[in-house]
Amino acid sequence: MTLDRRNFIKLLGGASTVALAGCAGLPSAVTEKRGPRVVVIGGGYGGSIAAKYVRMLDKSIEVVLVERNREFVSCPFSNFYIAGLMPDMSALTINYDKLAANHGIHMAYAEVTAIDPVGKKVITSGGDIPYDRLIVSPGIDFRTEEIEGYDESTPLLMPHAWKAGEQSTILRKQLQDMPDGGKVIISMPLTPYRCPPGPYERTCLIATYLKKHKPKSKVLLLDANPDVVSKKPLFMKAWKEYYGGIVEYVPGKKVTKVDAKNKTVYIEGIEDIKGDVINLIPAQRAGNIAVKADLVGDDKKWCPVNQVTFESTKHKGIHVIGDACIAGPMPKSGYSANSEAKVCATNVVALMTGKPTVDLSGINVCYSAVSDHGSVSVANVYAIKEGKIISVPNSGGISPADFSLIKAEHAYGESWLKNILTEMST
Ligand SMILES: Cc1cc2nc3c(=O)[nH]c(=O)nc-3n(C[C@H](O)[C@H](O)[C@H](O)COP(=O)(O)OP(=O)(O)OC[C@H]3O[C@@H](n4cnc5c(N)ncnc54)[C@H](O)[C@@H]3O)c2cc1C
Repeated sequence: MTLDRRNFIKLLGGASTVALAGCAGLPSAVTEKRGPRVVVIGGGYGGSIAAKYVRMLDKSIEVVLVERNREFVSCPFSNFYIAGLMPDMSALTINYDKLAANHGIHMAYAEVTAIDPVGKKVITSGGDIPYDRLIVSPGIDFRTEEIEGYDESTPLLMPHAWKAGEQSTILRKQLQDMPDGGKVIISMPLTPYRCPPGPYERTCLIATYLKKHKPKSKVLLLDANPDVVSKKPLFMKAWKEYYGGIVEYVPGKKVTKVDAKNKTVYIEGIEDIKGDVINLIPAQRAGNIAVKADLVGDDKKWCPVNQVTFESTKHKGIHVIGDACIAGPMPKSGYSANSEAKVCATNVVALMTGKPTVDLSGINVCYSAVSDHGSVSVANVYAIKEGKIISVPNSGGISPADFSLIKAEHAYGESWLKNILTEMST
C-alpha cells in the first residue's frame, strides 16, 4: 500500500508540509541532498548503529541522523539507578558528538512530525529532510488509551520508567520518599513489549533496595501475562531465596483502570488495589511516528518488514528496525536492535549500489540483575530461513539454575553496557 498526497496531508491533521517546515531551521547540509542519501530517524540502540554502519560501508552515501534529544539515556541498567544502586545516570548517558565527527554523520536535532514516502522526505520541526532510503528506529510508545482514567498527569504520579531519563528519576524518588512498611506495585503489560525480562529484573532490584533500606515494605508484581515470560526458573528462584516475604508475584492480572490521585489500580474483573508507589508500565506499540506514517500493520501496533532487508512491507524505501519492527522471534531488546541495525545498514547500502543483499545472522543476549551483585542471562542466535527470521535451534539458553555464574555474569553485563554504549557513541 502506498500513501497518496491527499492521504498524506490528512495524516498531518490538515497541516501542509510547507507550514510545518517553517519552524526554526536545520543547516542546509541537512535540508539539501548533495548525493545519494540515507536518513535515519532515532539515535537510540538501533538508529545510531544503522547511521554509523552505512557510513562505514560506503562513504559516498550521505547520512543524516534525526534525533529529538541531544543526549540519549540508556534503558538497559536504568533499573540500577531506580533502585539507588547508581548515584546518577551519567554511566547511562551518551551524546552524538564523536559519532558524528568520526563518521561524517550529519546530526539533525529535531522532532520528526511526518514522513512523505511519495516525495521521499522527512518532515521535522526544523525543516524537511530529503532521502533516498529511510531507516526508522523510533522505539516504543504506549497504548494508554486502553487504560481507563489514564491522562497526561498519570505518568507523573504512576511513572512507567520504561523510557529512561526523567521517568526513572520520578520512580527512584518515590521509592526513596516511601515510608518503611509501604507497598510498591509494578504493573506489567502483555507481550510483546520492550525488554521481556525488564519488569522481573526491576522487581528484584526494587526488592534489593527495600530489603536494605525499608525491610517492612513489599513489592507486588502484577503480570498481565499468564506466567513469567522470560528466564522464569531464575527469577522465581531469586524471589524465593533472596526476597521471600518481600516479593509477591501475581500472574494474569491486567490493569484496565487507574485512579492515580488515590494511588489505586483496578484489575480486569473488578478488584481494586492501593499502593504507596505504583510503577504502571502500559501496553506498548511502535513509536508514534511509525504509527502516524502508516508503517504499522492492521492492528496499529508494530511494523511489518521484509525480515531480510528490514524494508517496510507498507512503504517502499523505508526500513524499520529495533523495538518498532516485527523481527520474528527476536525480542525487543537493545542487543537485537544493534544486530538488526547492522544487517539493515548492509542491505540498504546493497540496494543503493546494486549489490546482492545478505541474510541476517543475529545475536541477542539479555543480562538481568537478580541482586546488587548477581546477574543471569538469556541468549540466542537468529538466522534467516525462507525469508523469515528464525531462532537457531539449540543455539542459546538461560544461565545455570544453580546460580553458579551469577557473579561472573554480573561483570559480563556491566562490560556489555560499556561496550555497546561506546559502539553507539564513537
Ligand atoms: C528497564 C529496561 C531495561 C532494559 N534492559 C535491556 C538490556 O539489559 N539489554 C537489552 O538489550 N535491552 C534492554 N532494554 C530494551 C532496550 O532499551 C530497547 O529494546 C532499545 O532501546 C530499542 O532500541 P530502539 O532503537 O528501537 O529504540 P530507542 O533506543 O528507544 O531509540 C529510539 C530513539 O528515537 C528517538 N525518537 C523517537 N521518535 C522520534 C521523533 N518523532 N523524532 C525524533 N526522534 C525520535 C528517541 O528520542 C530515541 O532516542 C531495556 C529496556 C528497559 C525499559
